[in-house]
Amino acid sequence: MDPLKALADAERKPYWLDSPARPEPRPRLVGNTSADLVVVGGGFSGLWTALMAKERDPSQDVILLEGRRIGWAASGRNGGFCMATLTHGLPNGLERWPEEIDRLERMGVENLDEIERTLQRYGVDCSFERTGELNVATEPWQLDALHEHLDLIEQLGLDYVPLDRDQVRAEVNSPTYLGGLWERSGCAMVDPARLAWGLREACVRLGVRVYERTPVRSLHDDGVTIGLRTPQGAVTARRVALGTGVFPPLLRRLRHFVVPVYDYALTTEPLSDAQLAEVGWRNRQGVGDAANQFHYYRLTDDNRILWGGYDAVYYNGGHVKPEYDQRDETFAKLAGHFYDTFPQLEDVRFSHRWGGVIDTCSRFSAFYGQAHGGRLAYAVGYTGMGVGATRFGANVMLDLLSGERTERTELRMVKEKPVPFPPEPVRSGVIQFTRWSIAQADQHQGRRNLWLRALDRMGLGFDS
Ligand SMILES: Cc1cc2nc3c(=O)[nH]c(=O)nc-3n(C[C@H](O)[C@H](O)[C@H](O)COP(=O)(O)OP(=O)(O)OC[C@H]3O[C@@H](n4cnc5c(N)ncnc54)[C@H](O)[C@@H]3O)c2cc1C
Repeated sequence: MDPLKALADAERKPYWLDSPARPEPRPRLVGNTSADLVVVGGGFSGLWTALMAKERDPSQDVILLEGRRIGWAASGRNGGFCMATLTHGLPNGLERWPEEIDRLERMGVENLDEIERTLQRYGVDCSFERTGELNVATEPWQLDALHEHLDLIEQLGLDYVPLDRDQVRAEVNSPTYLGGLWERSGCAMVDPARLAWGLREACVRLGVRVYERTPVRSLHDDGVTIGLRTPQGAVTARRVALGTGVFPPLLRRLRHFVVPVYDYALTTEPLSDAQLAEVGWRNRQGVGDAANQFHYYRLTDDNRILWGGYDAVYYNGGHVKPEYDQRDETFAKLAGHFYDTFPQLEDVRFSHRWGGVIDTCSRFSAFYGQAHGGRLAYAVGYTGMGVGATRFGANVMLDLLSGERTERTELRMVKEKPVPFPPEPVRSGVIQFTRWSIAQADQHQGRRNLWLRALDRMGLGFDS
């Protein structure tokens, strides 16, 4: 079908948030109050921090302040791939922290196991399905990249299965696939919005005071406590945890390390049984291709296909604006790629189209730190893979605020910071040239130009 025709009736809003399950917002903060811990941000990062703070010490008074609605931002509009990796994939972790990779992989799997147990404990219904991720190659050079680390995978005892052309097509039937690698237990599919709402309910049940539509405008440190100003109130806190993602940070220094990158997605109408049978997909894995500009896709509860990725857009100047959530050029491109991948679904139309912002940093995996004499902690920079990793980051923040030395806080990954981005306007120039180079590499059998190779040598890059 012509992509524009297929998109004509698609709602311009995130599929997950367009749900009758979306709860009414909690009240705004009005007046002055105090707490042992204030968590700023009601995405996964803030929600896990508040929840686990209460689990660690039920007697402490915890407040969560969300500027808009719980889960409205990246957390409620992503692909819902809840991954074990803490390092934006094994290759990135191996490149940066080779001596820690076995621990990082183990801690990632433990983190995902704990997510699964927590959801059971609180009865969070977010359609958690631990079906894994199928990485597929659509070009010969991608096959080499997928199979590069098989020895290490075996050594680490990770549950990956290499698949040849016929085996991968027997899982998900696309004429474009040449082979694949199924990471079987290291990834679960979730409904991310229902995960955020469920975590909110769990927080409330444990006694966290959750305020929505309450943006924190400023922080003030008096040397003993931190004051947080909101439009209609204020909180005095002994400790503060920032889970504010890509938004203008309350800690100025973070601006140098994080840039907003827009990622876009579509969902189809629900597939009929006959349409689904044409694709197979009985094991309901998440799927990602192995290009640099990659697509990610998966089935929803009601058998829509969520189809996203490819364009990772940085708007010059680095602003976050509501109008950037829609990009018709990208939606048309994505729809075209969908039909190339699944020609047997040429009659399927799209129901939703949307975009969201990713907090990209130059090492592609979150970084952590403290400020205000150790009274404030932050975790930011998840670069498009934060659905699972935010729980690990929340634990790091709580470890740092408690002053405890733990296995987590001793990791080089946790102690080190990424290389900062240059200031604007150089930042825009560098990022756009890097994006162009990445697209060129995909068109030339993965060959990286001089610029990308120089960035690789410095451990720098651009990703989503
Ligand atoms: C389209 C898209 C697809 C993605 N797909 C995947 C995927 O499949 N798998 C995966 O692992 N990751 C994916 N990601 C990334 C993932 O969604 C994020 O890494 C994760 O949700 C980050 O959570 P967070 O809580 O740090 O940030 P957010 O969800 O952005 O939450 C931050 C919150 O802080 C609030 N806030 C900010 N400043 C203030 C303030 N001053 N006062 C009060 N509140 C404030 C904001 O309102 C917001 O609600 C995707 C992202 C996008 C956009």
